[in-house]
Amino acid sequence: MTAIWWIRRDLRLHDNAALTAALSAGGAVAPVFILDPVLLASAYTGARRLAYLEASLRQLDADLRQRGSRLIMRQGNPAAVLNQLAAETKAVAVHALADVSPYAERRDAAVAAHLVAAQTPLHLHPGLTVLPPGDVLTQSGAPYTVFTPFSKAWQMRLAMLPSPKIQPAPDHIATPADLDGLPLPTLTPLSASPLFPPGETAARRRLAQFVEDGLDEASIYAYGEMRHRLDAAGTSALSPYFRFGQLSPRLAVAAALEAIDRAPNAAARQGAEAWLSELIWREFYSHILYHFPHVRGRSFRSAYDGIVWQNDPQAFAAWQSGQTGYPVVDAAMRQLAQTGWLPNRARMIVASFLVKDLLIDWRWGEQWFMQQLIDGDPAANNGGWQWSAGTGTDAAPYFRIFNPVTQGQKFDPQGSYVRRWLPELARVPAKYVHAPWEMPAADQRASGCRLGYDYPAPLVDHQQARARALSTFAAAARPLISGVSTAIHEFNN
Ligand SMILES: Cc1cc2nc3c(=O)[nH]c(=O)nc-3n(C[C@H](O)[C@H](O)[C@H](O)COP(=O)(O)OP(=O)(O)OC[C@H]3O[C@@H](n4cnc5c(N)ncnc54)[C@H](O)[C@@H]3O)c2cc1C
Repeated sequence: MTAIWWIRRDLRLHDNAALTAALSAGGAVAPVFILDPVLLASAYTGARRLAYLEASLRQLDADLRQRGSRLIMRQGNPAAVLNQLAAETKAVAVHALADVSPYAERRDAAVAAHLVAAQTPLHLHPGLTVLPPGDVLTQSGAPYTVFTPFSKAWQMRLAMLPSPKIQPAPDHIATPADLDGLPLPTLTPLSASPLFPPGETAARRRLAQFVEDGLDEASIYAYGEMRHRLDAAGTSALSPYFRFGQLSPRLAVAAALEAIDRAPNAAARQGAEAWLSELIWREFYSHILYHFPHVRGRSFRSAYDGIVWQNDPQAFAAWQSGQTGYPVVDAAMRQLAQTGWLPNRARMIVASFLVKDLLIDWRWGEQWFMQQLIDGDPAANNGGWQWSAGTGTDAAPYFRIFNPVTQGQKFDPQGSYVRRWLPELARVPAKYVHAPWEMPAADQRASGCRLGYDYPAPLVDHQQARARALSTFAAAARPLISGVSTAIHEFNN
């Protein structure tokens, strides 16, 4: 008797409900990963994420081999591939972790229909998030659309449930010896990022280091303050592991709750609570995509579908290549291009700049991020872009427009982040590093950074661009806010 474990974005052996269910049938388990041509060819797929996936599949195969099993690679339409594999193995069932993207839901419905015909049921298990999307609803049974009440309800629901039993990786997995599989794939010539060693052991080690008692900058206890700093590694850098399910989100939440309990002081506790809150943001955006799948193509709030974008291709290219003339924006865009990863603060700054200062459709930025990010995740990325654009779920007003100069001064006070990614600014004094156009000509020559030669002049004037964004968004939002008096603020946090 064989059960198929269909691996998608749950590349882990610990705390995996799909694997546990496949094992509990008591027979053999066929762990299969299917290269889906639709996903490989998608405009939302990128080489860095493929390189990471490739390395992660190798690691998972090695982890399985240590337990007497192996990864069976197949390629093709998932329904056809699974039908074939079910016939080969006479599988009693296929087990997978449920996913929330509209593509995943369509794919899984098609697979389930095919497998019913083959009399092999497809079982989808929770595990992408701590609480399954659909589990946290208002008293009237509606989905939450604002983060804070969702977060409160999510925490209450979690507290009502018995403490989860985190399943360790099994010692042995019996897998039929006679199943063909493709060799482990080479998906891109790019090599995997050294910043994120693949696999669940690396993920769990990084989590353990982050939540241990130390108060250094990359610790959960320093997170409250350090998470925003661009010139320090103040966050967990776990997102690729969550993206590919190498880290159980239940394990991460349990670690955050424990850290809160044993926090040595109020500031440390606040740091750990802030980190837990970010894990809940992750849950929130999965919940939003599940309940409101239209967000993948359109604004959460339909009034904002009417925004008249400038969509200037040259400005977009300048943003993509880190040549806007705003150092903090350009440093972040070059970090993204060179590493496939960015801290949240940098993501917010560049997203605000694209959407508000350049008036470029947030969907262009969303797609570019998906092509670049190792952790590119349909739910979190869409949520982040709509939050930045002010078109999304939260009470995030469209008049939140980040000032790229003050953001830089606040979160990279000495300019070390900017200098790291923009070598042409290496010798620019701290005083001018976030606004090099203010540098007198003599200083430009002395620092080897002549504006318009070595580094571009600003693509737009921020104050003018801000005024343009406000009027453009206000025009689109008029039906939404008529009769409501709104104060216009510049948010710098
Ligand atoms: C425009 C934009 C696009 C984004 N795109 C993605 C994306 O494609 N994939 C992705 O995982 N995150 C995305 N985020 C959220 C966030 O920036 C990253 O999760 C975070 O920077 C990852 O770094 P970390 O692991 O060090 O996070 P930490 O700060 O250590 O947080 C721990 C974990 O919580 C989750 N998390 C943190 N912040 C958020 C958030 N705002 N929304 C949802 N989950 C969060 C992540 O899984 C993260 O690994 C985006 C944010 C913005 C503003």
